[in-house]
Amino acid sequence: MRIIQNPAPDTWATLGKRALIDTATIEARVSDILENVRTRGDEALLAYGEQFDGIRLDSLRVSEAELAEAADLVPDKLKAAIQTAYHNIETFHQGQREALAPVEVMPGIRCWRKSVAIERVGLYIPGGSAPLFSTVLMLGIPAKIAGCSELVLCSPPNKVGKLHPAILYAAQLVGATHIYKVGGAQAIAAMGYGTESIPQAYKIFGPGNQYVTTAKTLLAKRGVAIDMPAGPSELAVIADKQFDPAFAAADLLSQAEHGPDSQVVLITTTQAVAEAVNQALNEQLPLLPRHEVARQALQNSFAVVLPSWEEVMRFSNTYAPEHLIIGTANWEALAEQVINAGSVFLGNYAPESAGDYASGTNHTLPTNGAAKAFSGVSLDSFFKKITFQHLSHQGLSHIAEAVETMAAAEELEAHRRAVSLRMGRS
Ligand SMILES: [Zn+2]
Repeated sequence: MRIIQNPAPDTWATLGKRALIDTATIEARVSDILENVRTRGDEALLAYGEQFDGIRLDSLRVSEAELAEAADLVPDKLKAAIQTAYHNIETFHQGQREALAPVEVMPGIRCWRKSVAIERVGLYIPGGSAPLFSTVLMLGIPAKIAGCSELVLCSPPNKVGKLHPAILYAAQLVGATHIYKVGGAQAIAAMGYGTESIPQAYKIFGPGNQYVTTAKTLLAKRGVAIDMPAGPSELAVIADKQFDPAFAAADLLSQAEHGPDSQVVLITTTQAVAEAVNQALNEQLPLLPRHEVARQALQNSFAVVLPSWEEVMRFSNTYAPEHLIIGTANWEALAEQVINAGSVFLGNYAPESAGDYASGTNHTLPTNGAAKAFSGVSLDSFFKKITFQHLSHQGLSHIAEAVETMAAAEELEAHRRAVSLRMGRS
């Protein structure tokens, strides 16, 4: 990883730019897919499955027999691990319920909000080289707690037309009501528009490659809600001398192995720390099965050495990482200064892997600097907040004149009259 000594603050934004991709070409291809699925439905999905997944399916829907078989195929040890993760994710998200007490704004004017679950949500689970059954838990558990009545789940089938048993096992745990063997942009299109066999979802969640992400953003323009525009994964590690360089290297590699377009960044105040971490990276990298992927990701990655912790935090907030590890002795003080980040891991024993799987926090997080304005998925993502109000005659009388005056000033006469009439003046 290249080490950059004390870069000037006006270069930070450029330095932290994520690898750019040619969105125009992808957008054109994804638009075609969306249109094709919208007009031809299941037939288009079956044809794309043959083209992209290499299998012509008889049915898009996962059968009862396949679901039953999946439970037998998952080893007991993995089932127990999934149960541990399930318990913690459920506990943490259950704690996110907000009590929305009514507010008496003025005597006789009572306003309140109510969280109401989105009835039908679409969950996209990537398959292929890494079947992300952990994502089934991260999206399905909060959806279940929120009370979404239908959970539509799509994931690409393997070469023999099956979904990974762990995906099916987790899908049953979270109570997925519809499970389909469809992947890529065509799966997003199917959930966005609905087809003969796949019901339309009102909000679509889940990570994916550039095609999946582009399909989500295009659908968002057409009125379907999405969790967030998610791109390649990233991690920043803030380290000092007491943080074991082997820990830092292991954490950086855990993120680098996600994909060749992942980015990892080390931020420190000491050149020796950056060098020690680089040394540990060289030792650990060849041991990984996915070392080629991680090696490519490290090419987009770097370490910065800055003169003070204050500047370290300013750099980190400018970069706005999806994941941030603060492995320093003064982590408590630095954590207070985090303004932009998706999810933060503190101290020596909080690897990002903990949050990816089992500590309880959600792993669906904003990337590409979106953490400046977006939050990760939470219980709230599965709710709409509806406002209610009740006004008594006395309540309306307190604001009648204000509303009449404002309506008249905006020249909206009917608005003024709706109040005046009730107040006995016309
Ligand atoms: Zn990760």
